[in-house]
Amino acid sequence: LSERLQSALKNVTRKGKLTEKDVDVMMREVRLALLEADVNIKVVREFIKEVKEKAIGETVLKSLTPGQQVIKIVNEELTKLMGDEAEYLNFGTSKPAVFMMVGLQGAGKTTHTGKLSTYLRKKDKKNPLLVACDVYRPAAVDQLKTIGKQLNIPVFEKGTSMNPVDIAAEAIAYAKENGHDLVIIDTAGRLHIDESLMNELKEIKALVKPQEILLVVDAMTGQDAVNVAESFHQQLDLTGVILTKLDGDTRGGAALSIRKMTNVPIKFMGMGEKLDTLEVFHPERMASRILGMGDVMTLIERAQENFDEEESMKLADKMMNATYDFNDFLKQMKQMKRLGAFEDILKMIPGVGNQLKDINIDPKQMARVEAIIYSMTEQERKNPDLINASRKNRIAKGCGCDLAEVNRLIKQFTDMRKMMKRFSNMDPRQMERMAAAM
Ligand code: GDP
Ligand code: MG
Repeated sequence: LSERLQSALKNVTRKGKLTEKDVDVMMREVRLALLEADVNIKVVREFIKEVKEKAIGETVLKSLTPGQQVIKIVNEELTKLMGDEAEYLNFGTSKPAVFMMVGLQGAGKTTHTGKLSTYLRKKDKKNPLLVACDVYRPAAVDQLKTIGKQLNIPVFEKGTSMNPVDIAAEAIAYAKENGHDLVIIDTAGRLHIDESLMNELKEIKALVKPQEILLVVDAMTGQDAVNVAESFHQQLDLTGVILTKLDGDTRGGAALSIRKMTNVPIKFMGMGEKLDTLEVFHPERMASRILGMGDVMTLIERAQENFDEEESMKLADKMMNATYDFNDFLKQMKQMKRLGAFEDILKMIPGVGNQLKDINIDPKQMARVEAIIYSMTEQERKNPDLINASRKNRIAKGCGCDLAEVNRLIKQFTDMRKMMKRFSNMDPRQMERMAAAM
């Protein structure tokens, strides 16, 4: 879909204030992007309405097209909706801090009990104790023990015959005695939400008074994730969500829906089966992912910061008037460099990233082009037609390049100028068609 979004982007290219029509064109595509990312329909409707109101009448920044401007607003609003800054964990003041992991079966509770413990041991220098409270499947206890062994983090378990509430109580006493400042309780899940599970979780909660109750939820379940989050929140008053399996190809719409419907912050994302694949949740990155736009926003923002607008306008004018010379070319190259490695920029454009995998754009090549231009005289730069064979020889010697390289650059430059000239003689409608094809 992001292709559709991109083509919509291209078709909205006028400058000035955002009109209702610009916004409508773009929002239709944004709406589809959100629905395809499996965002809850209620959330989509509300969001579109809010953003439309906000966007219409806004001035388009000089360095952006109206289409880009709308996307920028959409992205900012999505980011805001998901919490702007990542919210961190609350360890409280009493020792040990207690975290409960809850969620449906298969969501990733046990795996993320492990991931979170190793993450916090490293980042916050915690000395965690893992607690096996899923007593309904013998394999569940073994799974946590295996994970603990792998990470070299102790696991408190009483097999499968004891009541999970009692296990939790004993575990906390054990943690106090043994100097653990963090207890992470892995609880049982069910295929669906049911009352006996909720009652058990409520009992554990009442007893251990956890600082964090983290809902572990599978991002791939999309819409269902919202229902799950709503029920768990109603019953248990969640403090955070860990959204798992984002290493899959899901667009992550669940993140947006959950946040908007429950207002529970998403704190972490699970990015794989391995135990070192836990990441702090980044609303901004998730917004781009939901829109399916790669890092377009980063690109738009960098362009905004770095391009001297006046300069760009002047250059564009010159291009059209075919007075574009080697000095202008040099200036443009410098702007490109300021934008960051050229390759990185291209990779941020959706769709280009993959195609570019095997191609290398060599910064050394750019440096050589610069060297060639620097060994031209001012006159030659202003009037490239002056550059005859003997001048070419002198330039090649001056910069230590092959004559062939000098020839190639001058030929490319002359071709480019010819093309610009053709552009400037085109009628506007023709140009629009060409721009859309690019
Ligand atoms: P639980 O039933 O909630 O305890 O879920 P588990 O922790 O046992 O995980 C269920 C399955 O999902 C296991 O095969 C895990 O390896 C896998 N899993 C957990 N988290 C992730 C993740 O972030 N990415 C991927 N790809 N798989 C995950
Ligand atoms: Mg489990």
